[in-house]
Amino acid sequence: MRIEPKFRGFICTAAHPIGCEENVREQIEYVKSKGEIEGAKNVLIIGASTGYGLASRIVATFSTGANTLGISFEKEASEKRTATPGWYNNKAFEKFAKEQGGFHKSINGDAFSNEIKAEAIDEIKNNMGKIDLVIYSLASPRRKDPVSGEVYSSVLKTIGEDFKSKTLDFHSFKISDVEVERATEEEIQGTIKVMGGEDWKLWMEALKEADVLKEGVRTLAYSYIGSELTYPMYNNGTIGMAKKDLDEKSNEINLMLKDLKGEAYVSVNKGLVTQASSAIPVVSLYISIMFKVMKEKGIHEGCIEQCYRLFSERLYGGELALDEAGRIRIDDLEMREDVQQEIKDIWDKVNSENVKEYSDAEGFREDFLKLFGFGFENIDYTKDVEI
Ligand code: NAD
Repeated sequence: MRIEPKFRGFICTAAHPIGCEENVREQIEYVKSKGEIEGAKNVLIIGASTGYGLASRIVATFSTGANTLGISFEKEASEKRTATPGWYNNKAFEKFAKEQGGFHKSINGDAFSNEIKAEAIDEIKNNMGKIDLVIYSLASPRRKDPVSGEVYSSVLKTIGEDFKSKTLDFHSFKISDVEVERATEEEIQGTIKVMGGEDWKLWMEALKEADVLKEGVRTLAYSYIGSELTYPMYNNGTIGMAKKDLDEKSNEINLMLKDLKGEAYVSVNKGLVTQASSAIPVVSLYISIMFKVMKEKGIHEGCIEQCYRLFSERLYGGELALDEAGRIRIDDLEMREDVQQEIKDIWDKVNSENVKEYSDAEGFREDFLKLFGFGFENIDYTKDVEI
């Protein structure tokens, strides 16, 4: 069938299989052009099908030559609906990884469950040997507690007082005022349960218990801080509380890995267009302006450039360059003073009339469409495709 983008609110409900393959192929081409990295050889990526997790898997495979086990939760196509982009990305990744060689397996299922943890451990034992890098890159709206069975939801809300700001509709390029509600205590706790570090720690405990972690193993969980402009929405909001919980859990995991000489780090990454981030009000406008400023300065990066630099200049080359809280900062270019100052200057002036001049709203929309396999110039979207 012929596939075109279909929107429900900010969400795109269709994905193009060939476009998704192209998205994966381009990322692979990028890392191949950058060269090899001497690093981890057996990598587990939790949240491997899109965004930062997919980019990490591509760098591990095509730059460090690692075997990879990728966990994700994606939907297969039905008669009427395409699969989710991550499902196509996994297929594309597997195809290219097969040409590359090594062991690569994708497990599709709920990473929060005990069953998927057990399945992953079996795979590792039977096919991989011990793991030397675990990347935790989940972004999920809900989590079922594996013990109590209770389902928790994460919300994107502010804390304390309601927050008024402006946001961008990247489909219509309109900027409008937005009021973000303050969260209840239950919503804050729910968000920490879903997006905090509890499940990361459970994974590391299960892997250690099963004796599948190599001496000197490293584990990373991805985080975001961003600008003061978005603090009430992000860093000081519900999601920020969950990210602070990651910091705490990273300390606990560090202690747990001591006898293995292992290390756990939170890596603070750059704000980018992914399925998770495009849903956050206020942040979409901030990212559009940030893209404009960083592109003009020649320092813009996408997920793949971020992950390549994380591996080559922090994890396996250069130095970790930890901040005062012991985190890796690969958001260093976004946080540069000159970049942040220019974003702030633009923030006060930007409106629906000048949004294309002062921000890269069009680039945001292009990146968003590419997540679903749309907008690649070398693909003929009028052709029927097998979904
Ligand atoms: P994403 O939506 O692109 O990817 C999420 C991944 O999690 C997908 O592979 C999905 O299949 C998987 N997933 C979700 N629920 C799952 C479940 N129950 N079981 C198994 N897999 C599941 O998200 P992203 O933006 O790449 O975010 C990944 C991490 O990076 C998050 O912790 C996020 O906060 C962080 N981060 C994102 C940004 C950004 O701007 N996008 C910036 C810095 C840090």
